[in-house]
Amino acid sequence: MSAIVIGGGIAGVSAAAELSRDRHVTLIEAEDHLAHHASGRSAAMFIEDYGNATIRALSRASTGPLQDAGVLSPRGALMLARADQSEIFDTEHRSFGMTRLSVDEAAVLFPILNRDTVTLAAYRADVFDLDTDLLLHGFRKRALANGAKFVTRARIDKIVRDGDGWQVTWPGGEARADLLVNAAGAWADGVAAMAGIAQIGLQPFRRSMARIAAPDGHDVTRWPLAEGLGEGWYAKPDAGKLIVSPSEEHPMDPHDAFSDDMVLAEGLDRYQEMVTPPVTRIEHSWAGLRTFAPDRALVIGSRDPGFFWLAGQGGYGFQTGPAAARLLGDLVAGRQSELPPEVVSALLPARFENLQNRTFPTPPISG
Ligand SMILES: Cc1cc2nc3c(=O)[nH]c(=O)nc-3n(C[C@H](O)[C@H](O)[C@H](O)COP(=O)(O)OP(=O)(O)OC[C@H]3O[C@@H](n4cnc5c(N)ncnc54)[C@H](O)[C@@H]3O)c2cc1C
Repeated sequence: MSAIVIGGGIAGVSAAAELSRDRHVTLIEAEDHLAHHASGRSAAMFIEDYGNATIRALSRASTGPLQDAGVLSPRGALMLARADQSEIFDTEHRSFGMTRLSVDEAAVLFPILNRDTVTLAAYRADVFDLDTDLLLHGFRKRALANGAKFVTRARIDKIVRDGDGWQVTWPGGEARADLLVNAAGAWADGVAAMAGIAQIGLQPFRRSMARIAAPDGHDVTRWPLAEGLGEGWYAKPDAGKLIVSPSEEHPMDPHDAFSDDMVLAEGLDRYQEMVTPPVTRIEHSWAGLRTFAPDRALVIGSRDPGFFWLAGQGGYGFQTGPAAARLLGDLVAGRQSELPPEVVSALLPARFENLQNRTFPTPPISG
C-alpha cells in the first residue's frame, strides 16, 4: 500500500511519520522547505484548556507523546484585566483553568504590569513552551527512517483518480499512490476541489506577531505568557525578547501571509495599556494563517474512497499534532482509536455532509 501526503507542515510531516510505519509514503510540499507557512510562524505554546471540547480532548491525548518527545518546557500563563472587565474575566479565567492572583502576586511573575490599569489577574502554571522545530523534525526523522520520501518545490496542480488510486502532478514531476492525504493547511479545500472532492468550508484567518526588545532591559526568560481578555493580545518571552500578538482573526484567502502594520499597532496599544514600559520599536514582524473548519474542530478521516483529510488545525496544530496523526493512522488502517468515540465522530469529515442544514455558533473562547 502507498500514500501521498500533500503538505509539509506539522500536519503532513506527522502524517508521513505515522503512515510510513506500514506503507510507502511520499510527502509533497510546494515550497523550498518544510514548515514555510503556518507551521513556521506559530507562538509555539501548549495550553491544554484552549479551544472547544474536541480540541481539548486531542490536546490531552497529545500530552504524553509531547512529553516523551521532550518538546515541552514550563512557561505558565497569566491573564490580566481591568476592573470594568470583571464579568468576562471570570468566564475566561475559569475556562482556561486558571487561579485568581492578587495584583502583587501577578507583579512578581510579570514585573512590568501597570498597576493603574490591571486590577484582576489569574494564573495557570501548567502551560508550556512547545519546541515546534524539534517536534516537526522528530516526525520527519521517523518518516525518513521508515523509508518515506520527501519532495519539496513541488506544487501539485493536477490530481486525478487512477483506478483505485490517485495520480498527482506538479511542474516537472508526478507520483501515484493508493491513498491521498490532504494536509495542505490553508489550501486544503483547494486541494480537495482539484481532486473532485466536496470541500469542507475551511476558512484561513490571519494572525500577526511582533518581536520587541526585552522591556526596560529586563531578563524576561522566566516570565509567563501574559494575555488580555477576549484574545485581545498576548506576549511571550522568546530568545531573550518578547513576541507580542494582536491576536487578530481576519479572514483571508490562502496566501503567503504577512503582518498588517495597523493591526499590529492596535494590538500593541492593547498590550501597552497593561504594562508600564512603552514600545518604541518593532524589531521584526510576521503573520500566519490559522485555518478553521466551520465548527472549529480538526477534520480527520475520509468520506470519499482513498481520500483522507488532516486539516483545519486552526490555532492548535502543534499541541494536537501527535494525537491527530495517530487518529489518522488508525482510520487509514481501520484500527480502533484510543480516543473516545464521540471525539472521533466530532472530527470526521462526514459531519459536514449536510452542512447547509446546520449552524455552528462560535464558542466564547475560540482558539
Ligand atoms: C501566529 C500563530 C500562532 C500560533 N500559535 C500556535 C501555538 O501556540 N500552538 C499551536 O499548537 N498552534 C499554533 N498555531 C497554529 C499552528 O501553527 C497551525 O495549526 C499549524 O501549523 C498548521 O499546520 P498545517 O501543516 O496544517 O499547515 P501548514 O504549516 O500551512 O502546511 C501546509 C503546507 O501545505 C503546502 N501545500 C499547500 N498546497 C499545496 C500543493 N498544491 N502542493 C504541495 N504542497 C501544498 C503548503 O505549502 C504548506 O507548507 C499558530 C498559528 C499562527 C499563525
